[in-house]
Amino acid sequence: MQFIDLAKQQSLIKDALDARIQDVLAHGKYIMGPEVKEMEAQLAEYVGVKHCVSCSSGTDALLMPLMAWDVGPGDAVFTTPFTFIATAEVIQLLGATPVFVDIDPKTYNISPELLEDAIKQVIEKGELTPKVIIPVDLFGLPADYAAIELISAKYGIKVLEDAAQGFGGQIDGRMAGSFGDAASTSFFPAKPLGCYGDGGAIFTDDDEFYEKLVSVRVHGKGGDKYDNIRIGINGRMDTLQAAIVLEKFTLFPNEVKLRNKVADQYNALLSDRVVVPEVSTGYTSVWAQYSILAKDADDRASLQAKLKEAGIPSAVYYPKPLHQQTAFNHLDYKDGDFPVSEEMSQRIFSLPMHPYLETADIEKICEVINS
Ligand SMILES: *Cc1c(COP(=O)(O)O)cnc(C)c1O
Repeated sequence: MQFIDLAKQQSLIKDALDARIQDVLAHGKYIMGPEVKEMEAQLAEYVGVKHCVSCSSGTDALLMPLMAWDVGPGDAVFTTPFTFIATAEVIQLLGATPVFVDIDPKTYNISPELLEDAIKQVIEKGELTPKVIIPVDLFGLPADYAAIELISAKYGIKVLEDAAQGFGGQIDGRMAGSFGDAASTSFFPAKPLGCYGDGGAIFTDDDEFYEKLVSVRVHGKGGDKYDNIRIGINGRMDTLQAAIVLEKFTLFPNEVKLRNKVADQYNALLSDRVVVPEVSTGYTSVWAQYSILAKDADDRASLQAKLKEAGIPSAVYYPKPLHQQTAFNHLDYKDGDFPVSEEMSQRIFSLPMHPYLETADIEKICEVINS
């Protein structure tokens, strides 16, 4: 059994995928070829925003907006410690200070109440300027943007949605990727919409900001790439990867439905033995991961061992919250600072999740866990 079955997906579109790849080899525009623009237009329409700027990875999709906003030393950027390192790494990379805020125990997403407390504390201390909030749509569930957007408006702080896992999710018909001032996503192969390498994209409605992102993507170009008006990066997405996303995107809306069917089956079959994920009314998750809670770390280890024995893969996202990572030692956080993230990192684990997971397999997985 596979944790994510990309081969099954590929078999459904093999001929069209090959044709797309052959097209690129034939026209030879490997950098910023026509497939890049075509993909950006389709994804912007799907998300319901004016602009999509494709880029080299989900990490650069987070870095580029921060660069375009001139985030740097002296700035505070608020995010969750219960996420992949990239979310906070880009803050540090620019010399700004990551300020961690604990998560809601039901959604695993940043807690709006604790976010406002953290902003007030930073203002009171007076050492850093609150600049950006990066909420993460963890495991595919959008964060609480109604509350977060109120806070951002109240304090004049920008919001960058990390939709690397959330792309395809929604809240009351508003798509993930459309929240905040800008949003970032990733096409890493294991994400809900992946390519066959690295890739990412940024979404925004703001025309001026769009122009800045396009400039940052190619070495801070002005009129052309030999006229440089700011410091940028080489952040382009390959034409071949855009061609692959275009073909995989034809399956994507249906795959979101299939992922939700898999999650519904898990929810129905898993007993009180574990805590299953909750999705509030109005929210749709894209189930980047289907994550459940064991009683404690020992219980998780024994459940994972039983699954392994039965030939079923499982994984822990995330075993160590970011404030406990060596790379962030200098921030002087200590154990106990973010109790919910710390507890979840001990209890959480994820089961196989992909659109083509069969009912028989889901039943087998649940049997092993319930027994
Ligand atoms: C995967 C991921 C990223 C980084 O994406 P890459 O394409 O691997 O650079 C950022 N944030 C979150 C929450 C992710 O899951």
